[in-house]
Amino acid sequence: MTNQKLKSWIPVDKNSDFPIQNLPFGIFSPPKEVIAKHDKAKDILPRVGVAIGDQVLDLLELKKTGVFNSLNFDTNVFAKSTLNDFISLGKKTTNAVRQRISKLLEERNPELRDDEKTKAKVLHKMSDVEMLLPLEIKDYTDFYSSMEHARNVGTMFRDPANALLPNWKHLPVGYHGRSSSIVVSGTNFHRPKGQMKPADSDQPVFGPSKQLDFELEMAFVVGKETKLGESVTTKNAEEYIFGMMLFNDWSARDIQSWEYVPLGPFLGKNFCSSVSPWIVTMEALEPFRVTGPKQEPEVLPYLQFSGQKNYDINLEVLINDTTVAKSNFKYMYWNMCQQLAHHTVNGCNIRIGDLMASGTISGPTPDSFGSMLELAWKGTKPIKMQDGSERKFINDNDTVIMRGFSEKDGVRIGFGEVRGKVLPPK
Ligand code: CA
Repeated sequence: MTNQKLKSWIPVDKNSDFPIQNLPFGIFSPPKEVIAKHDKAKDILPRVGVAIGDQVLDLLELKKTGVFNSLNFDTNVFAKSTLNDFISLGKKTTNAVRQRISKLLEERNPELRDDEKTKAKVLHKMSDVEMLLPLEIKDYTDFYSSMEHARNVGTMFRDPANALLPNWKHLPVGYHGRSSSIVVSGTNFHRPKGQMKPADSDQPVFGPSKQLDFELEMAFVVGKETKLGESVTTKNAEEYIFGMMLFNDWSARDIQSWEYVPLGPFLGKNFCSSVSPWIVTMEALEPFRVTGPKQEPEVLPYLQFSGQKNYDINLEVLINDTTVAKSNFKYMYWNMCQQLAHHTVNGCNIRIGDLMASGTISGPTPDSFGSMLELAWKGTKPIKMQDGSERKFINDNDTVIMRGFSEKDGVRIGFGEVRGKVLPPK
């Protein structure tokens, strides 16, 4: 459990996402000149870092001081360009690493605090480093677990009277996405081109998407594997979840609506998805557990669960400098434990580094919807921007930014941001 009184000797602004209670993991490249100062022979290798305030703690440099010696694991995992090997050590070890770092940064501990020479090597300004994709993402699954989102989309595209399909309240609907096109925050991409059928035409046309959208989502990282044929239960699912990230599942609505029957999303979705660079551990999110929406009708036994399985995480979406939506992860109808239990109930195996996204997170009010499709209601209610312009979907050169944080008893655990700019079509 997070100790709200814990303070670091590193100054942390009260609005920072990264107090000592958070300590998320990421992969970064340090600035060349910083490394060159004390280690001329070394290439600038990507390495594991931990965010604290506006700084990054360099675990590759830190391990050389011997602070992890008592924990008995191969510290070469910090010299890797992804977190997969670190996560593979298991929660017992990764939690112990986090606890050790917490102790090291605690305000009364002089160990590193008073060692100026080591501090210069192991701490980098966050604004000086380049954050990289923190995982080798094995498989990517996208759920459809917000009832408000499913209902809005069903109302627009099918039948307002029967907006939810008959299966929706009985199982967490999902599909297998594509991991090759998942990029880290800050990566820009070109507007996708494809086939679509305009409403006023009998024939499909080819060209750049005219209905490019974002989807406000969160994703969890699988931290423990199963073998083919094994299933994860809702009761032990949390052992398999390492942490969470912000996720923008970019979508081309015009391509999607023409292609998706009968097999579901394909080219309207797989051109790009963006993730935030820091993986916030479930241990850091522990104080923010909440009860989810009541599930009626009662679900089948393999989907039943006990305890609080949702999390109170405030979410915000901006297009350029205009906030267009505020939502919360707590609205999710299906929780992550149910998603994992359902995903594996047939014996499908999961691997360390799999990413499972929530699906668009829409709240109950029109300003809490998690996509432009819903916010501008299929283009019928354009959204006003700060500069006076309007948006039905995303324009070329627009930057979409998503942020998220939990807050309670004066402790704020944040995710940083996921940002991406849409370039004109190639
Ligand atoms: Ca999605």
